[in-house]
Amino acid sequence: MDKHMSYLQKHPAITRSRVNNFMSDNQWKDVNIQATLYDMCISGEPHIKLEVWSAPGQDRPSFEHAVKQEFRPAKVGQSFGPSWTTHWFRVTAKVPASFVGKPAQFLIDTNSEAMVWSAAGEPIIGLTGGGGVERHIDYLLTPCATEHEEPLLFYVEMACNGLFGNGDYHKHPQDRDIYYRLNSANIVAPNKDAWALFHDMEVISEMANHLSQDSPRSWQALTAANDIVNVFEYSDLSTIAPAKKIAEAFLDIQGSSANHRVYAIGNCHIDTAWLWPYAETKRKSARSWATQLYLMDSYPEYRFAASQAQQFEWLHENYPSLFERIKEKTKTGQFIPIGGTWVEMDCNIPSGESLVRQFLLGQRFFKQHFGEYCNVFWLPDTFGYSSQLPQIIKQAGAKYFFTQKLSWNNINKFPHTTFQWVGLDGSHVLTHMAPAETYGAQCRPGELIDSVKRHKDIAYTNESLYLFGNGDGGGGPLRSMLERLRRMKDVDGLPKVKQAHPQEFYVHVEENSKQLVTWKGELYFELHRGTYTSQSNNKLWNRQSEFKLRDAEMLCTIAHMRPHCRDKFEYPIDEFVRLWKLVCLNQFHDVVPGSSINMVYRDSDKMYRDIFETVSKIRDRAVVSIYGGAVTNQMGQATSLAVFNTTGWMRTDIVTVPEPLVPLFFCENSPVSEHVQVSELDGSVFVLAPNVPGFGSRVITPHGTSHAEYIQPMQVYECSNGEGFVLENHFVRVVVDKSGRIVNYYDHSERRELVPEGAAGNVFELYDDVPLFWDAWDIEIYALEKYRTLDGVSVMIADKGPLVASLSVRIPISHKSVLTQTISLSAISPRLDFDCNLEWHESRKCLKTSFTWDITSDFATYETQFGVVQRPTHRNTSWDMAKFEVCAHKFADLSEYGYGVTLLNDCKYGYSTLGNTMSLSLIRAPKAPDEFCDMGHHKFCYAVYPHKGTFSESNVVQEAYQFNIPLVHLPLDSESTSCADAPPFFSLTGAPNVVLDTVKVAEDDKNSYIVRMYEAYGGRGHALLTSRLPATSVCKVNLLEKPVGSNLQWLPHSKTVEVQLKPFEVVSLKFSI
Ligand SMILES: [Zn+2]
Repeated sequence: MDKHMSYLQKHPAITRSRVNNFMSDNQWKDVNIQATLYDMCISGEPHIKLEVWSAPGQDRPSFEHAVKQEFRPAKVGQSFGPSWTTHWFRVTAKVPASFVGKPAQFLIDTNSEAMVWSAAGEPIIGLTGGGGVERHIDYLLTPCATEHEEPLLFYVEMACNGLFGNGDYHKHPQDRDIYYRLNSANIVAPNKDAWALFHDMEVISEMANHLSQDSPRSWQALTAANDIVNVFEYSDLSTIAPAKKIAEAFLDIQGSSANHRVYAIGNCHIDTAWLWPYAETKRKSARSWATQLYLMDSYPEYRFAASQAQQFEWLHENYPSLFERIKEKTKTGQFIPIGGTWVEMDCNIPSGESLVRQFLLGQRFFKQHFGEYCNVFWLPDTFGYSSQLPQIIKQAGAKYFFTQKLSWNNINKFPHTTFQWVGLDGSHVLTHMAPAETYGAQCRPGELIDSVKRHKDIAYTNESLYLFGNGDGGGGPLRSMLERLRRMKDVDGLPKVKQAHPQEFYVHVEENSKQLVTWKGELYFELHRGTYTSQSNNKLWNRQSEFKLRDAEMLCTIAHMRPHCRDKFEYPIDEFVRLWKLVCLNQFHDVVPGSSINMVYRDSDKMYRDIFETVSKIRDRAVVSIYGGAVTNQMGQATSLAVFNTTGWMRTDIVTVPEPLVPLFFCENSPVSEHVQVSELDGSVFVLAPNVPGFGSRVITPHGTSHAEYIQPMQVYECSNGEGFVLENHFVRVVVDKSGRIVNYYDHSERRELVPEGAAGNVFELYDDVPLFWDAWDIEIYALEKYRTLDGVSVMIADKGPLVASLSVRIPISHKSVLTQTISLSAISPRLDFDCNLEWHESRKCLKTSFTWDITSDFATYETQFGVVQRPTHRNTSWDMAKFEVCAHKFADLSEYGYGVTLLNDCKYGYSTLGNTMSLSLIRAPKAPDEFCDMGHHKFCYAVYPHKGTFSESNVVQEAYQFNIPLVHLPLDSESTSCADAPPFFSLTGAPNVVLDTVKVAEDDKNSYIVRMYEAYGGRGHALLTSRLPATSVCKVNLLEKPVGSNLQWLPHSKTVEVQLKPFEVVSLKFSI
């Protein structure tokens, strides 16, 4: 009887601990396997000479610049900093004669991220010091040392940050004053056999720990591990061989052909900015990917995927030789560019067109540099998935979708792993969420076992994807992971593992799976609901960039394509590409959601400034070209005002003209007609712009025709009972009480009161906003339990008509924060606008405004990209309850049969509707990872828009566009121009539910232009599109602007083409000259 075995069976937990201690770098390391991993270790001079040069400030100089500097002596034990500084080490290492016949490694632990460079300036390998699973400190000097090794010269670029920036991001903002100690710099000779046994033991001991403890294989693993510990003697290296034999006998037993199959793929999720600025990401990609190339040479079976065209473009610019080496490895199939988008973007906040540009820019980059479009849309880490993604993915040349974030849901477990995701328009995409529930797996047996246990569709498909490698801050797979993976390739007790291109997995599923389940509509992420609101100025600028670029592209296309144009206008395609890249970059899944450090937002501020300045110059050039010589910069010479409407429908609106134009509209200090009004608030002038055609213009003259038919009497006055104020026009009568709340909203034509008795709208609620863990990310459900309503308001009359009447409202929030608001009603609409100026200095508070309406509906309708999504207004189930805060774009609508009310916004995204109360989250005050998040001044608008009919019978989508896109106006020195009198450049008739969203010149053909439209309400559309711009043929194209199907019938005489659209379908047309 084997006495070891009997002990083991009675005390398996003790044996497991014994085995773990045998592996561990703990107090037993001088007598366990750790003691045998290195045969030799030397440090210090004369074998190692260290010199350093510290770059000034936060500069990140190039290799060429750094090596020319004056280096000073350095030694182990010194500290370098502060945070974000860079220090270059010049290392001279001489492998001593005692290493002959052995491999020699250089181990350097800077406690931070670092890159090893060859003396010739080639980036070789990225390092990460310190402890933890990310630790990677070795660089191979020679695989086999000879007797007379020459001294080796190389450089180490030390970045004073860890993989996760500087500091504990969950709890605190970044620490600007961290110093990193150079822990070690040694030459070592690793013992290959000891390392091999070490990796065997890692696999065997973890199988013993993670396999079901009543399975024979678990006992076999524990027995084998225990036997190895018994055989091994640290002071006698000859015991490694018999120990290894025991390991091999266990690992050589293969699994059954019916076993689950795992397709493993290395990756290093690199957040394009998060706890570090963009500038550091450029180095992170280089470090992480250089390491992977290094490993690929030793592990031919190794497959590694990397996404985000932006990171590749940075590499191409800053590390051209590394980029070329990657290109070589893409040809052998080891390095796999993946994803298809510019960055791994947020999918809640970017507009439909922004999602299109993410793919257009991304796929074009991948095709240009790597020869192919990406088939797999790769988005492991984002905070919610728009229901339009399946259609966009398919139209962008991809077929498959990978993610995993829904495994973080904090209320309901998502029920599927491999499924058909069906989008808003019915498009299907084969979707997979890695059942290991991570994109940073460590190649451990426990994770593979979880891949089977947590696979929720194993009845239909017996395979899964498995993403391994350190991530978020990059890093990627390490040698030890590849060693373990080799051992786990086919071993009884674990799934079979194959390293493969993810596409191979999807093709295999497609070909071999029984009918997969489907999931219809959005993949709502039940966490990080605060990211609809955090960093609100960033969100405002993203929204404005999207619309400013839309207008500029449309006007430039018209200017460029306009027939018989005297001065040919050159469409600035390269500039638009550059600007869209900036917009797309800042839509990265930690930037626009608001979860990055302060440095990131200071960078994005600069980029948005660049976007606004450049777009405004481009737009002005286009407008001057369209209107010819009539445009004037000399305000005093202006005789009329041209108003251009970039929306697709006739529009009557009020434009606010700047001060220099004021004299044009006034005669001896009095308005020249009733369609002009000076604002009491800032002296600007409201001018009525009636019936401006869609995609066309109208010239307004101060002494032109009267527009009295548009100006119904309107008034503002204090209530006779002194309890509030009345704003009233032809459409509605609104009563605002002394607290600034809307207590009556009466629709004259429908004879209907919208506010229930005793209820109110524009009620400000200040919530305690203290999440469980992720500060900038999360609003938690319990926040709704604790709030106070703001009072102490003052209200006074401001503008008195005839065009605009308004009230000025002041709402103190605390002794530091105050909201001032202008509530205004114009003569032309039932819409009530709320223009807000907020001074905000709170901590962990969330400010919401809420409106209660006399409307009964089980669901509310929220705008999403190219469409709407309906969500419940009740909390019947836990799935309904989880949606206590949801994302919407320009509006959310609550309608019942016959009538509805919409809450519009110009830059907010966080809504919630419970029963008949709809709320809009205005601002938050998280303190990590950015301690200054949202502190300071904010300007934003929202509006209430009542309408007849349900949402689908309304014109809410059009109203929301108008609320976000002011009419373009400019002074002319002539009252008529050829442009002003001509018909619109485009018109879309026959389908009021179809919205023409984008007009641009085609990417590869400046003699063609693209028109993109979508069905916005969920019905069929049979539209007739007329274009006054030249065309000889029209065809339907996908989002990459490649033709799909045959040409449409273009009628050159009427210049029209008929287009059929299905519910929520996005259609792009290419017009060629
Ligand atoms: Zn991420």
